[in-house]
Amino acid sequence: MDYPDRFDVIVIGGGHAGTEAALAAARIGAKTLLLTHNIETLGQMSCNPAIGGIGKSHLVKEIDALDGAMARATDRGGIQFRVLNARKGPAVRATRAQADRILYKAAIRSILENQPNLQIFQQAADDLIMEGDKVKGVVTQTGIRFHAHSVVLTAGTFLGGVIHVGLDHHTGGRAGDPPSIRLAQRLRELPLRVDRLKTGTPPRIDARSVDFSVMQPQPGDTPIPVMSFMGQADEHPRQVNCFITHTNARTHEIIRGGLDRSPMYTGVIEGIGPRYCPSIEDKINRFADKDQHQVFVEPEGLTTHELYPNGISTSLPFDVQMELVRSIRGFEQAHITRPGYAIEYDFFNPQDLRHTLETRHIQGLYFAGQINGTTGYEEAGAQGLLAGYNAAARALDREAWYPHRDEAYMGVMVDDLITLGTSEPYRMFTSRAEYRLILREDNADLRLTEKGRALGLVGDQRWARFEAKREAMEQELQRLKNTWIHPGTAESEQLNGKLKTELNREYNLADLIKRPELGYRDVAGLKGFPAEDSQAAEQVEIQLKYSGYIERQKAEIEQVRRQENTRLPDDFDYSQVSGLSNELKLKLDQQRPETLAQASRIQGMTPAAISLLLVYLKKRQ
Ligand code: FAD
Repeated sequence: MDYPDRFDVIVIGGGHAGTEAALAAARIGAKTLLLTHNIETLGQMSCNPAIGGIGKSHLVKEIDALDGAMARATDRGGIQFRVLNARKGPAVRATRAQADRILYKAAIRSILENQPNLQIFQQAADDLIMEGDKVKGVVTQTGIRFHAHSVVLTAGTFLGGVIHVGLDHHTGGRAGDPPSIRLAQRLRELPLRVDRLKTGTPPRIDARSVDFSVMQPQPGDTPIPVMSFMGQADEHPRQVNCFITHTNARTHEIIRGGLDRSPMYTGVIEGIGPRYCPSIEDKINRFADKDQHQVFVEPEGLTTHELYPNGISTSLPFDVQMELVRSIRGFEQAHITRPGYAIEYDFFNPQDLRHTLETRHIQGLYFAGQINGTTGYEEAGAQGLLAGYNAAARALDREAWYPHRDEAYMGVMVDDLITLGTSEPYRMFTSRAEYRLILREDNADLRLTEKGRALGLVGDQRWARFEAKREAMEQELQRLKNTWIHPGTAESEQLNGKLKTELNREYNLADLIKRPELGYRDVAGLKGFPAEDSQAAEQVEIQLKYSGYIERQKAEIEQVRRQENTRLPDDFDYSQVSGLSNELKLKLDQQRPETLAQASRIQGMTPAAISLLLVYLKKRQ
């Protein structure tokens, strides 16, 4: 049957990409349907119950700056919060939260259910409704036809999913969930380049069978950090410790003894796994000289005894899993509640996407999350938000939008995927961003909230709070610049004890903060009162301390921006550009960069080759 209502946007899949996509589309006013296998698994964390970490928290805070759900749900579900790299510079600082997976899911579901313009429907999508090269809707498992202007596909690890434990395998989307076989087959008929990837997860353990007294406790930070700009530490649930233990020589021996029944080492699994989240058998093989590996023992929640032993992801046979787990200190009597496994799934070459995440060959069809070759909730959520916004913008006839590499980690990720593609699961790192000093987690709001407001993504509450912070920052900056400390006064005496060389002339407070020996706290209260808004105070301090570097990076960005504005036509015939190597002609022809800046990031591209393109473009005009 044809469903009686017509939608602007249909989102397939209620994971991390799908929920952000549906929320973003609905926030800007599009009539949106979220179609997912099971309402109970909305926002489910397939693997470790943790959000954030290095590079990833930047994405979470950017989603948050655009009023997405991930950071707010983390504040409501987080049971241990830490700021990683706290002693290093602000560019690489990252907030990480251990989450209670039940509370996290409940928070996501509540945000979804309270979002105006958004309907949820439980059923598998089996087919797409097509008209020529345009997508027009979705057909479900029982034949219900939903019609829409745009469709966002976020099927995660479910497309053609095959689960492996040792040499046994069966189809599945993740443990306990069915795969999407029909939809995967249908997508393989469309002009999309498909390949296989794999990922894995460790066995889960019953905490009642674990001896924590021989492990090292790892408490969260105090004061407890928050993930969301709107977050309050008092909305966090009860906080708990994680623990650390290690594998040992015996563990490694057991693993080596099981490799002849490993699906990875016997060639049963063909897909490539995440390099930075390897299985324990992979680690033993790649780092053969290491006699131990760290295992973080993380609680799965406040109302369950299940533990997530982070660091021993495996697809070895269950008997080997049992033995290897019990060889680890503290796990000698461990009871495994769920076996570890690996999953292989279809992903699509992201080079077939536009920066808006619309597929190049099928109008109105957008892809986000794991199906684009990424791994991680944060990477998925960020793509979901962008795809959801753009799918809705297309339906509502509004401007498309995506951030550039100098505006957001989201921009870096999408540009990396589209320009370079990926042959292994892509995860975010701070090292992927060339403008790290500008793209900090602490300034995600200042980079994106104003744009998000203009696009209709940011609601009134966040906007009011953001404007108040911005004003507080401005006022504080002016106060610091206009407040002077003179030598020989009581205030200067207070500072001299902390300085290498004493003050010999007058300085304003802003210049004093720039000194390496001093910080905002040493200076701001010398005359007058420090800013009440702690986020504003932190921002003022960072902006002053790093102003030299920030200015230099802004100048570099300006230069690259000029290339960003030089568009390369869709029908550019690269074979006509004389002087370009055949290899580069082929790469440019295959990857079809949209701008000169994107072309410059293609592997093997040289400044000389960019000049040749520029000369050719000028001649064409
Ligand atoms: P998912 O979260 O998988 O959500 C997909 C959603 O789509 C589900 O709700 C599903 O029910 C729904 N769906 C699928 N097909 C259909 C259909 N036809 N119709 C309707 N609904 C459909 N990430 C890491 O960062 N590190 C790791 O070590 C790691 N290990 C992992 C191990 C395993 C075993 C798995 C399964 C995942 C692992 N991940 C890991 C990946 C992480 O779970 C994903 O990156 C993240 O969940 C991707 O989000 P997503 O929204 O793209 O997909």
